[in-house]
Amino acid sequence: MIVFEDVTVRYRGVPALEGVNLTIQEGALGVLVGPSGSGKSTLIRLVNRLVEPDRGRVLVRGIDVMALDPPELRRSIGYVIQSVGLFPHRTVARNIATVPRLLGWPRARIDAQVDAMLELVRLDGSFRHRYPDELSGGQAQRVGLARALAAEPDILLMDEPFGAVDPITRRELQGELTRIHRETGKTILLVTHDPREALDLATLIVVLRAGHIVAASRPEILAHEPGAFARDLFGADTLILDRLRRRHVGAFVSGEAQDEDPSISAEAPLSEALLCMMETGRERLRVVDAEGRAMGSITFHAILETAP
Ligand code: ADP
Repeated sequence: MIVFEDVTVRYRGVPALEGVNLTIQEGALGVLVGPSGSGKSTLIRLVNRLVEPDRGRVLVRGIDVMALDPPELRRSIGYVIQSVGLFPHRTVARNIATVPRLLGWPRARIDAQVDAMLELVRLDGSFRHRYPDELSGGQAQRVGLARALAAEPDILLMDEPFGAVDPITRRELQGELTRIHRETGKTILLVTHDPREALDLATLIVVLRAGHIVAASRPEILAHEPGAFARDLFGADTLILDRLRRRHVGAFVSGEAQDEDPSISAEAPLSEALLCMMETGRERLRVVDAEGRAMGSITFHAILETAP
């Protein structure tokens, strides 16, 4: 668990964060989102003491970070940044082994952990011996993630981790992160300026504006009642699509299935049903179950009714 208690940070007297209160529960995936300069990086860097509070306290696992030894604190927390920061003259395996070596793990344990981490981020064993300049941007980011997780920290900080990769790789890495979060149950705090990324990944979205938290809620709640600032920040289209992506066709079935209608799976999100209607020009679709059996129909009207 990470707790910020009435935290203020000033740079040369100018506040970057003011009176921030926030709790990130154990196992949560908290996403900080807000315009450039709103204080996101400052907030995340308080956790591993790269920034220190001028007022208030930051508690990590119940202990005030100011009472902890900074290098030790940092070794206990994974940290991933946009530029990855792999050591260029070390192989992938040596990069991943960085913190376990610092911690003095025996060699056999380190070797086994490098293999396990490569598997976790879905890189095959042949990557062990490559150097960072022999990796694509997406592969480098996977290695960065493997390195951050190698000493099995229970907390992972990620500052714009997917900011420098192309959109397709970005979607892929977002999927991997969701999977890793689910599989490992780690507490993750991630910074992004991409609202869609925030809605897709977060279990808790924290919206920052000029050094203040203006919203902290579950994404489905934020998408439903965004408030004026978050609506502008996220864009109405992103919020509407997000709402449609969270609901499934199966819950909106009514009436008999009509053979002449285009088919859609009951498991598909409503966004896909809407797209199918727009592509085919039809206001009604035939809903089928996983075995392809007809269950009934979904109508354009039913989708419209989901508007708040
Ligand atoms: P974000 O991550 O949301 O872009 P930051 O936390 O990086 O925001 O910055 C918050 C504010 O603090 C900005 O106005 C920024 O210019 C300022 N700031 C950040 N780091 C420093 C620093 N090391 N020295 C002086 N000002 C800084």
